[in-house]
Amino acid sequence: MNRRSLIRNVLLAGVGVSLPLKGLWAGTKSPLTRPYHRFQLGDLELTTITDGYVHMSPVHPGFAPEVPAAQVNDLLKKNFRPTDYMDLGLNILVVKKKDQVILIDTGVGSTYGKNSGWLMSSLADAGIAATDISTIIISHGHPDHVGGLLNADGVINFPNATVYVSRLEHEFWMAAEQDFSKSTFENKDLLKTYTKATQQIFTTIKPKLQLFDDGQVLHDCIRLEIAPGHTPGHTITHIYSGNQSIVHVADLIHSDVLLFPHPEWGFNGDTDFHQAIATRKKVLAKLTASATPIFAYHLPWPGIGHARKKDQAFEWVAETYAYPQ
Ligand SMILES: [Zn+2]
Repeated sequence: MNRRSLIRNVLLAGVGVSLPLKGLWAGTKSPLTRPYHRFQLGDLELTTITDGYVHMSPVHPGFAPEVPAAQVNDLLKKNFRPTDYMDLGLNILVVKKKDQVILIDTGVGSTYGKNSGWLMSSLADAGIAATDISTIIISHGHPDHVGGLLNADGVINFPNATVYVSRLEHEFWMAAEQDFSKSTFENKDLLKTYTKATQQIFTTIKPKLQLFDDGQVLHDCIRLEIAPGHTPGHTITHIYSGNQSIVHVADLIHSDVLLFPHPEWGFNGDTDFHQAIATRKKVLAKLTASATPIFAYHLPWPGIGHARKKDQAFEWVAETYAYPQ
């Protein structure tokens, strides 16, 4: 829009006389196009950055494999969403407490194509140096969470970080055999490929690795809770400062419009389909009762909101912002 048409549009809107028109075309460059979202939680500085997204097509039976496709499509349509695909966000949270810089999950790395693997450039755009990352928390061993630990040459991206993985999770992936019998995911060969990739990554980072158990506290601002189902040692991260908190739920839930109203519909990326449903219900019930803010790895950018009770289940209330920030 050029200056003349901008003036015309403002005048046509009937607000021209009351707006400080001069400021509208002063030519100040917007500082708001940065691909990150920064906010404060008590004395912690939190930054969401993006690793890109995963394009999932079709939606069904990846979601709700035991529910008729028509019922799933109907709910998508009611929410003005496409029925033939769903783009899953890759939201990565950085927590800064004084000189501690804590990264939660690392994205897909270099293997998923051009729609993802943006972690390192997103960090740089947010003014965060890879060498400043002191702690990395891995929610679970899937490739879209551990892939960014290494660069394309197989060298660790974060030379000064200690990497925390739950003991259960580490044992599961490093075992000679993985039990995928409770997963509805059909392509078991692909699961084997994932397993090999994760084993390779865990082996490479071994000198940096620190295993934890349920309830582990880090830096007086993080509490790690095992929430099994998606994987055996899948971990959610409670982040707190004073009486404020937010819970990073990782892969507890992959769709706002499908799985909040129907947590029982399930997701076939879950290692134990039914345990994941039970955990999803239990954690969402707790977070709803306490009205705790939620950060979700795969929900639409920037992945922040609340769960609210609705009918017999829940709904996602995304945080909104008056302007990009
Ligand atoms: Zn994931």
